[in-house]
Formats: sequence, C-alpha cells, structure tokens
Amino acid sequence: MPNGVAKANLPTKTCPACERPFAWRKKWARDWESVIYCSDACRRKR
Ligand SMILES: [Zn+2]
Repeated sequence: MPNGVAKANLPTKTCPACERPFAWRKKWARDWESVIYCSDACRRKR
C-alpha cells in the first residue's frame, strides 16, 4: 500500500448499488479497504 495519496491520483472503486465509480475521500482514509458503497444511501439500498 502506498503511504501518501497524491491529489490527482486518488484511488477509485465502483459502487455496486449505483454502479458508478467513486473516488477516495478523506473520511475513508482509515478504512478505504472496507469501503464498498459510495454513500450511506447506497449502502442502505442493499
Ligand atoms: Zn453508490
């Protein structure tokens, strides 16, 4: 795992609920590995 994350090169994932790609957010800094959905709304969908 890279330690520093460059602003222009944020990691992304695809949300299985809305099927849209979403980028890393600072609030997920601690548990990006376990982030699955792009938002709480999507997490509640399924
Ligand atoms: Zn979503």
